[in-house]
Amino acid sequence: CGIVGYIGENDAKGILLNGLEKLEYRGYDSAGIAVQSTNDLKLFKVKGRIATLREAVDETFDATVGIGHTRWATHGEPSETNAHPHVSQSGRYILVHNGVIENYQELKNDYLADIDFVSETDTEVIVQLIEQLANETGSTIEAFRKTIALLEGSYAIALLDKKDKETIYVAKNKSPLLVGLGEGFNVVSSDSMAMLQVTDQFVELMDEELVIVQEDQVTIQKLDGTNVNREPFEVDMDL
Ligand code: GLU
Repeated sequence: CGIVGYIGENDAKGILLNGLEKLEYRGYDSAGIAVQSTNDLKLFKVKGRIATLREAVDETFDATVGIGHTRWATHGEPSETNAHPHVSQSGRYILVHNGVIENYQELKNDYLADIDFVSETDTEVIVQLIEQLANETGSTIEAFRKTIALLEGSYAIALLDKKDKETIYVAKNKSPLLVGLGEGFNVVSSDSMAMLQVTDQFVELMDEELVIVQEDQVTIQKLDGTNVNREPFEVDMDL
C-alpha cells in the first residue's frame, strides 16, 4: 500500500527506508526493497515492520537506484515470499505494485501457462508478463507498454531492469503515484510525504501514462508513445 523509488548519486537504501517509514501510518503487513549497484542487484524482504527490514538490509551494499514497498495483502497471505518486490522468472525484472489486478487469473491462463509462479500474489503476473513480452519484442519499454494495456484493475507500479541501472519505469491507474524531482536525482512515491526529506517538487501522473525516470530526466508518455509535458508543483514542507 506504499511505494518509493530513488535514482541518483546518493545512497538509495537510506532514502528508501526513510521513505517507507514515513508511509508506516497507512498500515501494512510486510515490506521490501530492491537496490541496484553497478554490477549487482539485491533484494531484501520481511514480514513485519520497517525496523525489521532495516536490520535485514546489507549496510555495506552501495546502491544508487532502488524501489521499495509496504504491502497490504489482497491476494496471498502476508509472508516474506508474498512481500514485494517480485521478480520475473529469469531474474531480470523486479517490480513493486499497489492495488489489485482484477484479470490476473486470465492473464496467467492466456499468456503465462509455462511460468512457475513463486508467490500467490496478483502482482507477480505483471512482472512475469513484462519479461515474456520483453523476450518477444526485444524492448523493455514496449513490453511495459503492452503489459499496461492488458491490465485491468488498480495499480501503482515501479519496475527495475537488472540490465539497465539507469532507469525506473513507472505507471499508475486508479492508485496514487508521484514523481519527485531533485538536483542529480529523482524519486517516485505514492505519497509526497515519503519524499519530503529530499524534495518538495513533484509531478502528478495521470492514469495509464508510462513514466521513464532517470537520474537527470523524467519522460512521461501516453500509451500511444506520444510525450507529455507537465510542470511540477511545490508541496509545502510545513504541512
Ligand atoms: N495486490 C497486491 C498484493 O496483494 C498489492 C497489495 C498492496 O497494495 O499493498 O500483494
